[in-house]
Amino acid sequence: MATLDTLKQALRQKAKASSPKQPLSDMEYSAGFDTLLRGSGWRTYQDFIIPQISQLMAPLFNSGDYISALEIGPGPMSLLGHLPSCLRQKIKKYTAFEPNDLFASRLVESFCSTSETESPLPCLRNPPNIHRIPFGLQDNIESGTSSRMRENDEKYDIILFCHSMYGMKPKHRYIERALEMLVERPQGGMVVVFHRSGTLHLDGLVCHRTASFPTGVVSVANDDKVLDCFASFVTGFSMQDVDVDKAIQVEWRKVCRALGRREEVHPDHLLFSSPNTMVAFTQHATMLLELVAQVPLVTGDKRVKNRQALFHPAVSIVRPKDVKQIQHCVQWALKHGVGLSVIGGGHSGHCLWPNVVSVDMGAFDQVHILTAGEHGRELSDLGSLIIAEAGCKTGDVILKSMEVGLTVPLGARPSVGAGLWLQGGIGHLSRLHGLACDAIVGAVVVSVDSSQVLCVGHVPRQHWQVGAVRPDNEADLLWALKGAGTNFGIVVSVTFKGYAAPTFSIRSWVLPCSDNLRARFWLEKFDSIVARKLPRSCSADAYLYWDTDQLHIGVTMFESSTTRSTLETPTPTLLSTMLGPEESFRVMDGVELFEAEMYMSGMHGGHGGGKTSSFKRCLFLKRIGAVGIADILLAAMETRPSPLCYFHLLQGGGAVGDVAANATAFGCRDWEFACVITGVWPRNQDGTEAAQSAVQWVYNVARDLLSLSSGAYGADLGPDPRDAALAVKAFGPNRLRLTHLKQNLDPRNVLAYACPLPKTPMKQKLIILVTGESCAGKDYCADVWVSVLIAHRSLTARAVSISDAIKREYAAANGADINRLLCNRAYKEQHRSALTTFFREQARQRPRLLEEHFLNVVYGAADVDVLLVTGMRDHAPVAALSHLVSDSRLLEVHVQAAEQTRETRRGCHGGDGGSNGSKDSINLTALDYRPSLIFDNDALGNEAAKDFAEHYLLPFVHEDLQRLANMVGQISDFPRLGVEFRHVLNISQQPGGLALCTSLLQTHFASDWTRVNAVACCEAGGYIFASALAARVDVPLVLIREAGKLPPPTVSVVKPSSYILSLASNTSKEKRIEMEQDVIPKGASVVVVDDVLSTGETLCAVLQLLEKSGIGAEDITIMIVAEFPVHRGRELLRQRGFGKINIQSLLVYGGA
Ligand SMILES: Cc1cc2nc3c(=O)[nH]c(=O)nc-3n(C[C@H](O)[C@H](O)[C@H](O)COP(=O)(O)OP(=O)(O)OC[C@H]3O[C@@H](n4cnc5c(N)ncnc54)[C@H](O)[C@@H]3O)c2cc1C
Repeated sequence: MATLDTLKQALRQKAKASSPKQPLSDMEYSAGFDTLLRGSGWRTYQDFIIPQISQLMAPLFNSGDYISALEIGPGPMSLLGHLPSCLRQKIKKYTAFEPNDLFASRLVESFCSTSETESPLPCLRNPPNIHRIPFGLQDNIESGTSSRMRENDEKYDIILFCHSMYGMKPKHRYIERALEMLVERPQGGMVVVFHRSGTLHLDGLVCHRTASFPTGVVSVANDDKVLDCFASFVTGFSMQDVDVDKAIQVEWRKVCRALGRREEVHPDHLLFSSPNTMVAFTQHATMLLELVAQVPLVTGDKRVKNRQALFHPAVSIVRPKDVKQIQHCVQWALKHGVGLSVIGGGHSGHCLWPNVVSVDMGAFDQVHILTAGEHGRELSDLGSLIIAEAGCKTGDVILKSMEVGLTVPLGARPSVGAGLWLQGGIGHLSRLHGLACDAIVGAVVVSVDSSQVLCVGHVPRQHWQVGAVRPDNEADLLWALKGAGTNFGIVVSVTFKGYAAPTFSIRSWVLPCSDNLRARFWLEKFDSIVARKLPRSCSADAYLYWDTDQLHIGVTMFESSTTRSTLETPTPTLLSTMLGPEESFRVMDGVELFEAEMYMSGMHGGHGGGKTSSFKRCLFLKRIGAVGIADILLAAMETRPSPLCYFHLLQGGGAVGDVAANATAFGCRDWEFACVITGVWPRNQDGTEAAQSAVQWVYNVARDLLSLSSGAYGADLGPDPRDAALAVKAFGPNRLRLTHLKQNLDPRNVLAYACPLPKTPMKQKLIILVTGESCAGKDYCADVWVSVLIAHRSLTARAVSISDAIKREYAAANGADINRLLCNRAYKEQHRSALTTFFREQARQRPRLLEEHFLNVVYGAADVDVLLVTGMRDHAPVAALSHLVSDSRLLEVHVQAAEQTRETRRGCHGGDGGSNGSKDSINLTALDYRPSLIFDNDALGNEAAKDFAEHYLLPFVHEDLQRLANMVGQISDFPRLGVEFRHVLNISQQPGGLALCTSLLQTHFASDWTRVNAVACCEAGGYIFASALAARVDVPLVLIREAGKLPPPTVSVVKPSSYILSLASNTSKEKRIEMEQDVIPKGASVVVVDDVLSTGETLCAVLQLLEKSGIGAEDITIMIVAEFPVHRGRELLRQRGFGKINIQSLLVYGGA
């Protein structure tokens, strides 16, 4: 997809010869800007800009101080005005520079609140100060008003360059000017730039943080008038001469139509890629000189091999000469609150990062060998050791080791560096000896927390650094370095365990495939024969690629042996029986082996003649021949954006799987093939659309394979948001431990650009099931709620459709195109009835289908704090599913809209998806249960949905709930062995506990307390919380007691003994409970309060009692302090006919 930058160049090119040109009038500019925002440009704000501002500013907003803000070029609406209201309220002073008169007027207007609209910044102490001039480098003086005010007298906490820095030259001077205008305070203010372009180079300025949004898209109506307005907005000018202007517009429309992508979903729109970048600076941005005075600068980027990295050069590269200088780098980064990136072999895309300093480890290039006996008695058990400094390459280590008959199981290319062994390291010896990281037995590391030199594991005495210490968490650090080692410190050297150097025999086959059927046949054969039958001393790789207009499968088998003579004569192998005689057979040593790779020699005329660039992501697969997987691989070959793209399938198993998943940080061990999805393009197209398409292709294929994979390779995952989903699956079961270690070992996120470790989820995940009628706007609402949750509380939140799972299964089974099935409405319609039949059949065969899909969705979103699940059509899903995720809080929000609204939406957008393609809708009145919350989605726009999220969803992620949870004691083996007792009543024994609990009960009640006639409770636990609550909300209390304790007349029912009592006594005795007759008038509205909901027996008895007294289920709400979903109390209530009662629980606990 062409970027807006490419479009701009093409449009300008068309107008190059025509002159003279004129800048756009305010009106033209404003119309163009509106086109951009309307054309889904708004998504960039919602998904990137607003969450980024909220996260960056969180410390400032949380400081409790008043905040002053300056916006440069905000357009017609303050950017800060899109923040959640609790943040907007903190802003007390607002200034803007907006030279476009029309925008400035609209901006002024927006601040005039009316009865219907609130001011975007409602708590300003003075009227907003809006200057209708550009932000200048010198004195920013307001002109044309009576109060000529010198802007440079003003200081701000936040200065935002809102929409790019076009026209500001040199850009770094403008940032420096803004930096001078920052308030000076310890947790100082910030200058934040949002720029509509891939990268932003700002000479000599070091950023505090930077982030990118490469997937932004602008969609423009394919209409002459709209295109005219859009094209001149993109170029920034129109023609002075009216006739020339008309002629150019015709040309520009052609350019837009030629470059814009059309999608079947919106055939009348043109799409352009609009990546966005955020760069944030603090007052420390200008401190680079301080570092380069201590550590030598590198000129030229010779050591960086990765071509994409060269496209976003670092602000500076320093090359420390000794460990002291590495420590200087860390001390400097900590002092100024900035990040660092590290260059090992320079093969990843993020060893350089724009506006960040890179530390090149090139000076640490020594390999030391200590054969058994040379390294002292304490390490003699380990045999020979190889100490590789962090600037060494794979080739250096192998060459030096081979000189003494040793080797280390590293990777296949000689130029790859420390990033390989710190993040895994898959090679031809992996099946025999394990991964490169498995061979690490010790390391020397500079801490990015304290800048101390740390020695971990086995480091021979002679390689200890002066002043090095063993850290307290040594075992943790060594564990983390083995597979996730780029995140926890700057590694100076590692100690490898050495193995005897083998000789290799290499045999290759090339299998042309006349069609996909043939290719599938070979993949299946290769999978079932190779994966299962080869001995560990052999490993076979397959390549799937196109060459000379035909699909090929290339196979190379590597056999290793420490006795060369056994390999010299080719013997028949399983592969030769299956594939026939090999094309080539060679015997070579570990260094010669580097040139034997098929992609270096056999494919595409030998590595595309060496003049290509590539982008790779790697997923781990168990079966490559399985129908679903082989289909994805073959379909991807057909959609490859360049003929050079290919798959490399490296064989695993053997020793890789011998290591337990949690024994090292590299947690993905259960796989037979590492599938390297490789996007390739000619080197002379670096940085162009061709390169971007290849990268996007890799991500698309990775996305399609991810759910069928058994993990992702963490190497090379970086800050690109498209890597986030892969990073979640990168460390198997170790993710949470790694996240905690990151907080301990790199608390200030110095290594911010290494493989992303998903942040620690909230202590308790919130899962919101968004249900409702067809076309009520469930998906739309889910998206809005995600953005509110992200922006408001810096949470991670994601909306996922559960129906995608069945669509994927259907596509895999029937050969349908999954991407079109997910996104293209017409295509979906074509498959609707087949999909429904498929779903019904699956549901018949797999009675637990819903549970399976639900758990898949939940596990797939293990990294997020709040998961919103759409596409769910099952009744009473909270009662049915909460016991499966009893550690999480499950809510159902039912979205409803009037029939007419839904009809209109069906016409406009095609409505939102159902779970299985059926058209029937849920009718709320027909439900035999009550969803947790109901949202009426009839209003236009997203304000109502946002308000709903702020009022009803955010309370569920409020820290007060955690505070309350902390007051509940946990007692092991009570009331009997093996039981973890949660002492819920302990809340009332804590200072402020009862007040906090009752205030939460009050605010979590979704209706109006003034309409409640009674708060009912059953002795004993319920009494404590109910009486305090009743007093607080001023509602009479109704007491339910054991029979015989209340004066007659009473009504009574039988109540089985509570869960915890039955545990204690091992018997289950029934009792009667009663309440005074007529204490509650018939038809009254009642809130039942109890301390605990477990099996639900007590509540059922209470509800039966109320029923006997003439209180209908529709007039009852239940409020619980702590719920234990594993006992399925809600389901019992539903089965006993009380499903229509709303139940709210403040705390939810897994386990008994
Ligand atoms: C041509 C090619 C072939 C490959 N072959 C294989 C293969 O056979 N097997 C395999 O498993 N992988 C392979 N890879 C993937 C490779 O492992 C990763 O690209 C790896 O990140 C490269 O490491 P590097 O040191 O060369 O790159 P760099 O970009 O220098 O480093 C990669 C990451 O490691 C960090 N890092 C580097 N040094 C240090 C240090 N001293 N302390 C802390 N962090 C550090 C960097 O900051 C960066 O985040 C290959 C990649 C390419 C491009």
